[in-house]
Amino acid sequence: MLSLLFWDVDTQVDFMDPAGKLYVPGAEKIIGRIQQLTSFAAEHGIPVIASVDAHLETDPEFRDYPPHCLVGTPGQKKVAGTLLCGHYVIPNRKIDLPANLASYPEIVVEKQATDVFTNPNVDKLLGCLGPDREIILYGVVTEICVEQAARGLCQRGYRVHLVRDAIQHLDVAKGSATIAEVGRHGGRLLTSDEVLSEVRASKVA
Ligand SMILES: [Zn+2]
Repeated sequence: MLSLLFWDVDTQVDFMDPAGKLYVPGAEKIIGRIQQLTSFAAEHGIPVIASVDAHLETDPEFRDYPPHCLVGTPGQKKVAGTLLCGHYVIPNRKIDLPANLASYPEIVVEKQATDVFTNPNVDKLLGCLGPDREIILYGVVTEICVEQAARGLCQRGYRVHLVRDAIQHLDVAKGSATIAEVGRHGGRLLTSDEVLSEVRASKVA
């Protein structure tokens, strides 16, 4: 694993905190791992892409889910330790991305639906970061937003690895199906310790 990209899915207070508006049971247990992955990425110059829900009350998604991650509310914020200083936020409308985008330690991609690829800037963003990246994917919910990110990335030819102790499912069978699907595309299921030690080993080699 050489040219890596860490991809953080929706690690926001409304999903991760037991008091959140759409709490994913067990999600608080993976926060420490995600904080560790985030700071490790910064230390090693690995870019982080982080999708976030940035909802308005009128969003169609609220036909299927209770309101959550409303812009301007504490629940919409990423949990502490997962947002690096000097990050860049990409809104969900077509914009001109800065030429130096690859120099930002974390790039936040806003969305109002479960699929991050509904943001029209994501392909351009991936292009800015270069085509030869392996993607370390983690966050919530395994079988919904994580799966859609994985599928979109696999369709674009990226190899995606999931971090076993930094993802959280709602339904164990569906979560396992997501993991199996990633495996069929050549991705591995790694612990966060394995990710860290493989990066350290590749730096030494
Ligand atoms: Zn949402």
